[in-house]
Amino acid sequence: MALTPAQTQLADGQAHAARAMWNCLHDWWTMLPKEKRSLAAADAAIRQARKDIGWLAVLPAQAAQAVLKTYFQAWKNCWNGHTDAPTFKARFRAVMSVDIPQGRDLQIQRVHRRWGMVNLPKVGRVRFRWTKDLPVGKKANVDNRITGARLIKDALGWHIAFRVRTLESAPGPHEGPEIGIDAGVNIPLALSDGNYHHHGRPARLPDGTADRDKWLNADEKVKLLRLERRAAHRKSFRKPGQKTSNRLKRTYHQIASLRARAKRRAADWQHRTTTEIARAYGVIVVEELDIPNMIKSARGTVENPGKNVAQKSGLNRSISQEAWGRTVTMLTYKAARHGGALHKVPAPGTSQRCSMCGFTTPGSRESQALFVCKNESCGWSGNADHNAARNVLHLYRMGHALIPAAGRAVVRRARRVKPAAAR
Ligand SMILES: [Zn+2]
Repeated sequence: MALTPAQTQLADGQAHAARAMWNCLHDWWTMLPKEKRSLAAADAAIRQARKDIGWLAVLPAQAAQAVLKTYFQAWKNCWNGHTDAPTFKARFRAVMSVDIPQGRDLQIQRVHRRWGMVNLPKVGRVRFRWTKDLPVGKKANVDNRITGARLIKDALGWHIAFRVRTLESAPGPHEGPEIGIDAGVNIPLALSDGNYHHHGRPARLPDGTADRDKWLNADEKVKLLRLERRAAHRKSFRKPGQKTSNRLKRTYHQIASLRARAKRRAADWQHRTTTEIARAYGVIVVEELDIPNMIKSARGTVENPGKNVAQKSGLNRSISQEAWGRTVTMLTYKAARHGGALHKVPAPGTSQRCSMCGFTTPGSRESQALFVCKNESCGWSGNADHNAARNVLHLYRMGHALIPAAGRAVVRRARRVKPAAAR
């Protein structure tokens, strides 16, 4: 959105009020005896708070109701076992956002090929970049319409995301082939049919450590380094307990903007890649990776510290950075949209086992990139990530697919498959 400085300040104020509302609500809810907790009581408390606390009233009433709704949903997700219990939102860590739950308040109008105008409650009429086809004006009807929006702020400014209700025909079953995917260390996504998806940005620096800033260009990396040095220099003058200077804040903001740009490039690549895969393949099989636990296990415990922590956590960092979890989420909904399905198989051993003979022989993984089977009668060699992807697909074909969470259970029966060598 193109906001004036005054409008930005208003939106910031609303987001801070929404966060404060969440924190008040959480405090109130957790202090209250269990039998007194109810939606009606929470609703009354919110109305009272907006009357009593002046600065909470900058948040429009509808947005305050949306906070309550989100808070309740957070508890429901917790009770269903999907997430941990809701917590307080910290000022700097929490994403700044404001809900606009009603579509009719927005009054969207297209003013240019690339620009539209929208009404934001208590902010006014603002311009936004028209990046997607939206059902407004003559295109809007009962089945296709905008039902609300959400404002989100990142280091590059405020954005608006519209919630659209639309009719879509159910996809027919996807006739495409089965595919196993490995979240590789050298290739971001290695496919079992020998294809791979690469973003052309080396994940490692010449010294072998993971490159955290691979999505930035050479010039941007130089700029980032300069900004980081400047921030460190300015920080060195700050005495304990002193406020962060405006100059230091500006440098921090510049660093955050560069990082946000890198993050967008990564998300864009992820979207394009997952769409391509979901279009091409009917059955997609991935490993069930538990990334936080992998990082924890590299560190070990106090009594029994992990070996090669630096290498392992470097490796894990590059796994985290490729954002495997988000790739799986995208593949799940995109596969469903195209009539396909995503399945998960247990991860252990897929990178050590030979995908040709099925044996796990010690020392088979020559390096991060190369797999050479040490089984004398086999001796297959090839790309290590590709080998793992073939193992993932094989596990699925042998009926080892994990059953998804209750409610969406898909039970697969084991099916007779050709011996590994014939694949
Ligand atoms: Zn082998």
